[in-house]
Amino acid sequence: MPAEIHQFLCRTDNFGVLVHDPASGATATIDAPDAAPVLAALAHKGWTLTDILVTHRHGDHIDGIPELRQHFPKARVVIPEKEAAAIVPVTGAPDRFVHEGDVVTVGALKAVVIETPGHTLGHIVYHFADEALLFAGDTLFSLGCGRVFETSMQVMHDSLQRLAALPGTTQVYCGHEYTQANGHFAATVDPQNAALQDRLREVAELRAQNAFTLPTTMARECATNPFLRAKDAGVQQALGMTGADPADVFAQLRERKNKA
Ligand SMILES: [Zn+2]
Repeated sequence: MPAEIHQFLCRTDNFGVLVHDPASGATATIDAPDAAPVLAALAHKGWTLTDILVTHRHGDHIDGIPELRQHFPKARVVIPEKEAAAIVPVTGAPDRFVHEGDVVTVGALKAVVIETPGHTLGHIVYHFADEALLFAGDTLFSLGCGRVFETSMQVMHDSLQRLAALPGTTQVYCGHEYTQANGHFAATVDPQNAALQDRLREVAELRAQNAFTLPTTMARECATNPFLRAKDAGVQQALGMTGADPADVFAQLRERKNKA
């Protein structure tokens, strides 16, 4: 049976997302911005929380964990070991520390941990290859990417390129509903991209109905997200950087977006 995914808003623009394995009944939350909406979502679906999979240490991804643990004391907490010093004081001791290449299970569903340093140094994402699902946290957004707080731009560029190499059919879930604002910026640096224009129209329609713009797919992001397109001739031309090193083009994109 395929995984069931339930996505909902937390705080103002954080996504909560539950991954449910119907065969075993196991249910994971990817991060926990806030306990109340996660508890409400679990109750709505009639699911029991068995796993809490953390992408990175920011408060708007972990602050709900202590209360979730009170409600579901058996839920396993999985965190990136590289961020343990910041996460453990908030969440309490986890059940497991993970690293690049580790396999995490949610019932019969299997995810591989991919380390994607950049937004934070120890940021990880969860790739359920058999299900073609990626939970990208704050590394990749639709039409955008996370701010680069803790590494060089080159390191973040490399992290994003690893994600871009995943199968195009991969359904991508992200930490925030930022697509529309990202799209306004994307249009300024990739003005000739017809696929981007299509996506912008779709996003405007979805947001007008208060609908989510996620999940997206990796193929679509590769075609429309400027932060994955630093090699693209049109993007390079728009920046006046024709022939430049893609990592330098990425850095320029990120710096412009920071100021936009
Ligand atoms: Zn973050």
